[in-house]
Order: sequence, then structure tokens, then C-alpha cells
Amino acid sequence: MKHEAICAGSFDPPTDGHINIIERGLKIFDRVVVAVAVNTSKESLFTADERVKMLQEIFKGQEKVEIDAFDGLLVNYARKRGIHTILRGLRTVGDYDFESQIALANKTLDHEIEILYMMTEGKYAHLSSSIIKEIISFGGSGCGMIHPIVAERLKEKLLKGKGRHRR
Ligand code: ADP
Repeated sequence: MKHEAICAGSFDPPTDGHINIIERGLKIFDRVVVAVAVNTSKESLFTADERVKMLQEIFKGQEKVEIDAFDGLLVNYARKRGIHTILRGLRTVGDYDFESQIALANKTLDHEIEILYMMTEGKYAHLSSSIIKEIISFGGSGCGMIHPIVAERLKEKLLKGKGRHRR
């Protein structure tokens, strides 16, 4: 039997923190399905399609990683895929508070689902998609925080046209 997990999130955009969790997940699971949330309460910078494409480029050639998108409840998507394990990353106490609520809600919705949490690696502990958007928008480098493909896409989105009006 193949052991599979779903690593779901907004990935707006994917960071090296996300990639690290997915890659470490591959040491435990035969396959990781990276599921991009299409409609979340968060307003996104990238469309779901753009987020899927970035992840596909990042994990190009990695047969054990599948990139997909889902809409609605994660438990429904997991059930539809026949996968019972969800893999999530944990960074801070703030993450813990949020994740424990989500975990309890998901368990109530579907008792068969198990959620596994992996502690972030120290260097990614303060890395989030929001922080990286801020860094790039102020002209900083995403080196060591995002994949070059993500840096390119972020610059296109956030810096295109900027500076044209500078004197
Ligand atoms: P969501 O909107 O569902 O929180 P995110 O894309 O922000 O989606 O995060 C998806 C998952 O990745 C979550 O489990 C989150 O805690 C985890 N994650 C995000 N950034 C990091 C990081 N730097 N290190 C480890 N895990 C992370």
C-alpha cells in the first residue's frame, strides 16, 4: 500500500519553508500531493493557476510530488482523493493556536483524517508568504527564502512599472 499525504495551503507564493516541509515529507511518505487552496478567506496576490504553475516548476521531474488545486473543505478533497493524512508545517506558537483549531474542526468533520505536523527548520521559522511579499516589494532579495522562479514571478507582479515614475 502506498503511503500518501496531502500538503495543503494557500502557497501565495510558495516559500522555501513550504518546500522544506514537502521535501522532508517525502522521507516519510511515498507520495505528497501539494494541494493549492483556490478560494480562501485570504486575498491572494497570485491566481490559483499561477500558484499551481510555480509549484509545478519547482517540483519539475519529481515523480513523488503531485501538484493539484482544491476548492472548498480540505476534508472533502482528501476523501475524494482517498488520502487520509494531511501534512502541515509548524513555525510559531501562533501557528500552533491556529492549527489546533483547524485540526479539531477537521477531526470533527471527518474522524478518519489524521493531521501530521512537522516542525520547521530554524532558518525558516520566521518565513511566511506575507513577509516575502513585503521584502520583494521593497526591493529586497529573496535569496535563501524563495526559489528563483518565485522571485522572478514576484518581481513581475510587485515591481513591474514601479520606478518608471521615479525621478
Ligand atoms: P494556509 O493559508 O493554509 O495557512 P500557507 O500557504 O500559509 O497556507 O501554509 C501552508 C502550510 O505550510 C501551513 O501548515 C503552514 O504552517 C506551513 N508553513 C508556511 N510557512 C512555513 C515555514 N516557513 N516553515 C514551515 N512551515 C510553513
